[in-house]
Amino acid sequence: MMASQVASHVASQVVNNKTCAQCEISFKGKSPKCFNCSICNFWFCLECSHVSNKVYDVLKSEPNVKNLPFNCDGCTRVLPKITELAKALHLQQLKIESCEKKYEDLKNTLQSVVEEQVEKAITEYREREERKLNIIIHNVPEPRAESTDKKGDDEISLKEILLTTKCVGLKNFDFVRLGRPSDGRDRLIKVTLGSVSDKHRVLGGTRYLRAKIGQVYAHRWSKIFITPDQTKEERIKNMNLKRELEKRKLEEKNHDLIIFRWEIVERRPDSLVNSTMATPGISEPGRPFRL
Ligand SMILES: [Zn+2]
Ligand SMILES: [Zn+2]
Repeated sequence: MMASQVASHVASQVVNNKTCAQCEISFKGKSPKCFNCSICNFWFCLECSHVSNKVYDVLKSEPNVKNLPFNCDGCTRVLPKITELAKALHLQQLKIESCEKKYEDLKNTLQSVVEEQVEKAITEYREREERKLNIIIHNVPEPRAESTDKKGDDEISLKEILLTTKCVGLKNFDFVRLGRPSDGRDRLIKVTLGSVSDKHRVLGGTRYLRAKIGQVYAHRWSKIFITPDQTKEERIKNMNLKRELEKRKLEEKNHDLIIFRWEIVERRPDSLVNSTMATPGISEPGRPFRL
């Protein structure tokens, strides 16, 4: 037996087990000579501990070795395996802790991503709601600089445009020029209509702006185009869709492709698609709709 195995837990402590765990010999007296294994916690007689009476007495009287741990034969045999297992267990524990941390981080990231997306969706929804009655009119010439009633001049132009789109009798509409006046540029006009159906009527009527008599536009408003008041997200989506449309027209050599309700579809003859809703309510100058 090695010195470290030999020592301590000598029998000055109270012996709970009445017998040696190996040979089952009964211990005698209040302080029998035996060792307590620091791993299995069983008690062992001197013979089974491989310690002579003489050595035991020395150990007992020597304070330096008195508290060194003792391990029985059985535990000494399995100790390397136990140590190995303890190491493996410790490594597993570290891995689990690392996974738990990663999971926790991921959960937090995911939560903030979801919260951000929800927030974004709510903001987008609100913005669309705020714009749902609006249309944007492009290329309406600015009133003359010397005019004393610019708002009144714009109102006359708007009424004429709406008349041309065959939208007469629209009530409760309001309008404003967007941005500050700048030289040479006709600012956009945002018109807020009284209802969503009024908006669709106007958007649907934009094709009349480019009606032709022979090869000539029938109205002075042929350069006007009217779009829904889109959010930034909708504008980006629309722009991407237009790029995709041009690409597909070239690739598929098909000029009958159009954008209809946020999708690229083939133009059908004499359909509603042709006449009113080609792009989502957008008409473009120089691209007259077929009447
Ligand atoms: Zn024994
Ligand atoms: Zn033991």
